[in-house]
Amino acid sequence: MPPATKRKRGEGQWALGYREPLNKNEENKKNDDGLNVRRRIIDIYSKAGFDSIDPADLRGRFRWYGLYTQRKPGIDGGKTAILEDEELDDRYFMMRVRIDGGQLSGPQLRAIADIATRYARGTADITDRQNVQFHWIAIEDVPAIWERLESVGLSTMEACGDTPRVIMGCPLAGIAEDEVLDATPQVREIHDRYIGSPEFSNLPRKFKTALSGCTAHCTVHEINDVAFVGTVNEAGEPGYQAFVGGGLSTNPMFAKSLGVFVKPEQAHEVWKGIVSVFRDYGYRRLRHRARIKFLVNDWGAAKFREVLEKEYLGYGLPDGPEPAAPLPRRDHVGISRQKDGNYYVGFAPKVGRVNGPLLGVIADLAERYGSGRVATTVEQKMVILDVPEENTEPLAAALAEHDLQVRPSTFRRQTMACTGIEYCKLAIVETKQRAMDLIDELEKRLPGFDQPLTINVNGCPNACARIQVADIGLKGQLVVDENGDQVEGFQIHLGGQVGATFGKKVRGLKTTSAGLTDYVERVVRNYDEQRQDGETFAAWV
Ligand code: SF4
Repeated sequence: MPPATKRKRGEGQWALGYREPLNKNEENKKNDDGLNVRRRIIDIYSKAGFDSIDPADLRGRFRWYGLYTQRKPGIDGGKTAILEDEELDDRYFMMRVRIDGGQLSGPQLRAIADIATRYARGTADITDRQNVQFHWIAIEDVPAIWERLESVGLSTMEACGDTPRVIMGCPLAGIAEDEVLDATPQVREIHDRYIGSPEFSNLPRKFKTALSGCTAHCTVHEINDVAFVGTVNEAGEPGYQAFVGGGLSTNPMFAKSLGVFVKPEQAHEVWKGIVSVFRDYGYRRLRHRARIKFLVNDWGAAKFREVLEKEYLGYGLPDGPEPAAPLPRRDHVGISRQKDGNYYVGFAPKVGRVNGPLLGVIADLAERYGSGRVATTVEQKMVILDVPEENTEPLAAALAEHDLQVRPSTFRRQTMACTGIEYCKLAIVETKQRAMDLIDELEKRLPGFDQPLTINVNGCPNACARIQVADIGLKGQLVVDENGDQVEGFQIHLGGQVGATFGKKVRGLKTTSAGLTDYVERVVRNYDEQRQDGETFAAWV
């Protein structure tokens, strides 16, 4: 990130008096609160059908309820940048369900499975923010889906849009043997007080929160807009360090520590203060500069803390220690002991792709072998909780019958993929199936490889599957093949590591999709042959 430059024009910050909208998005938000679209969906659009939807709702406010139109099938990636939105829009929707904290009860998982089967042609993906994403949703079915979700305490409210999105949490909160503290009450409190509140339904841009006491730092706090990370102060009390300004996409930045100590019972008001700073001082002129990271980069952590304390909290926070370093693998795949003597069993669906019937099977197994509780991870994986020791191996065997592996290869465990061209209007290339094929092939070609290694497959220059922090980050784009034809392919970034370094874009290093497996095999083989003991991929590359 270049050093902050002095800007002459205002950036549309409300706190500096710029209340007039400076672009179309801001105008739409000013015209009507995104939260109000719910009523219109229930009363009008679901009854009168797709063609009755106001375009400002369709391409704007629907996001406040986790709804995007999906990509019209059959349009190739070369058309992504040249076609208008309307030409790319299908008449069906992607719907995102927020799972704050990542933990699901048995009835909640069953509701998701039923919705996938009844309304989404079976589709369901676990996202890298612990959400579930459906596809093929018809507008006529949205009220019934909401009713079903709300009957079990789930919702799609503020799952997308310029809002506080899902609050990520450790899937093992409350049960991990070594957690610094159980963050579940704070996740709930922030959710219940502020999600859906008009106070925060018009932010400059999306706002991502992570809140966890996990020692593995499984919520990847470094790339969230705000994060509360468990730590222990000098008096031995557990609480949180607060981080602000993390984010990927263009101008990737790791979050900066505010250097404070936040008591658990204070977390909700400090969160409120931070999101208020963003709402009031965040940049609203240009969408691509509207994330909180740009404000934090210009101000620095010290000024951000000062404004937070003086203008919003009305008191100073004590200085606090930084959390301990993360573990080399931050996921919760495998079988491990809980603090109550039971075990958790984490397993790896490939790149988060599951489906309605399979989720039903997982719900059955969680009930038969555990307490019924299940969780999603930020690595597109799942965990069955509360399993008595004697049930762990039978459960692992039962999961394996459905190709859900508890002891997966590195490739299955650590490969993620974004939605890609199958459904995403911004995509240039196919991702999910490509990544699943890549995993299968690498498992065959490199059966003994067991080092930590992340492979993140993105369908476009955005960073939904976090290309910049992967060992091997693959950014979808059109490339020229050996015949001179434009075909799907990837720009390669190597050696990224969450919280430490962004992957290096290797100049000119691109591969066609057809050549992807050979390329990755070659790199991984070289690493495996040349690495010193304990040398990570990022250090080797
Ligand atoms: Fe779509 Fe691009 Fe995000 Fe992938 S990275 S889901 S293609 S916007």
